[in-house]
Amino acid sequence: MKKVVKFGGSSLANADQFKKVGNIIRSDEARRYVVPSAPGKRFGSDTKVTDMLYHCYETAVSGEDFSDQLDAIKERYQEIIDGLELNFSLDEDFETIRRNFSSHAGTDYAASRGEFLNGKIMAAYLEFDFVDAAEVIRFREDGSFDDETTDVLLSKALEEKESAVIPGFYGAKESGEVVTFSRGGSDITGSLVALAVRADIYENWTDVSGFLIADPRIVKNPKSIETITYKELRELSYMGASVLHEDAIFPVRKAGIPINIRNTNAPSDKGTLIVESTCRQPRYTITGIAGTDGFAAVTVEKAMMNSEVGFCRKVLQVFEDNGVSIEHMPSGIDTMSIFVHKDSFEEKEQKILADIHKTVQPDHIELESDLALIAIVGRGMKSTRGTAGRIFSALAHAHINVKMIDQGSSELNIIVGVRHEDFKGAIRALYEIFVLTQL
Ligand code: ASP
Repeated sequence: MKKVVKFGGSSLANADQFKKVGNIIRSDEARRYVVPSAPGKRFGSDTKVTDMLYHCYETAVSGEDFSDQLDAIKERYQEIIDGLELNFSLDEDFETIRRNFSSHAGTDYAASRGEFLNGKIMAAYLEFDFVDAAEVIRFREDGSFDDETTDVLLSKALEEKESAVIPGFYGAKESGEVVTFSRGGSDITGSLVALAVRADIYENWTDVSGFLIADPRIVKNPKSIETITYKELRELSYMGASVLHEDAIFPVRKAGIPINIRNTNAPSDKGTLIVESTCRQPRYTITGIAGTDGFAAVTVEKAMMNSEVGFCRKVLQVFEDNGVSIEHMPSGIDTMSIFVHKDSFEEKEQKILADIHKTVQPDHIELESDLALIAIVGRGMKSTRGTAGRIFSALAHAHINVKMIDQGSSELNIIVGVRHEDFKGAIRALYEIFVLTQL
């Protein structure tokens, strides 16, 4: 059995957190490949090492003295080394970094040092081999990620290793120039390592016990999701639920490797298992609820619209020509509504309205802003009758007016649009009916 374990920044923020991580790894000998992030926040107002590195490098590029900033970063690592009582020094590494910052080695290089150094400490602490991600995670000359070469390099490098630490977040071009993924990208590295070693499972350790059914800032103590499919996850992530980097899904999904989100601070919690498909019946009809605020809707009305060939296409063309992306498009017989992100729409609003008038001569156009969309997602909905009915009665009981409803053709989700002021109340009402009062 082979497990790849990735630990996020908060799991590695200080020596005490490192010790928890050490215990987790040592408690299961299948946990052989470890992908660490850079040290994260130790307390609410603290700064992540990655952000310290970005700032420090900016100072270096502006030609000012960056020694104090770099010393503060070194201090973060020294605190970990001392707390773990390791006989290990990063002095030489910091000298190299100082030189490379002075010669402007690049923003990505700067940011990547957070994971690089943490990986070195982790390898020393666990007595595992250290594999520099720059040698095994490959980017093309144009900066795009090269998955094929990476898989070859990574599998070859790890084939001979019983156990190894591979720092997350970065790789390099063939020339050696370091490139990072986008923020939170250590999740992607973990997934790539899991694919390369054909792991049985990819454990992603963070500071929450998996995905929650609803946003804890809105619903008090929401329950966590035990099992979720990749498709469900995508629907929820699209609506703003985030625990895992979106691009981390693709490598393992391809190989059928499940991801288990676990909590470093509560290691006996099972967390959430993310799988391609499952026979496991979800505990509730719905798997999760997620929502986003900040939408606007443009409703175009014209008598006999449905018999006018090309009407919808022409309206959509207007949005395309103005570079505004469309999020949803519920339609009636004589009306169609287009949901867009308010921010991207606002500046082009009058131009788009004028263009719609010009191209399709509508009877009426109505604009509504400050809308929120809520996705109710669940593979269990397909086989359950009356889900939509329950959604509406829950919202009606809470005196919430539904502005729009859209059921995906996969019957995996129902999206409802509500006014901004009803957003949180709607999520609470839905949670209550599907989770708290569910038989
Ligand atoms: N350290 C990087 C960040 O803060 C990458 C990661 O943690 O996954 O975004």
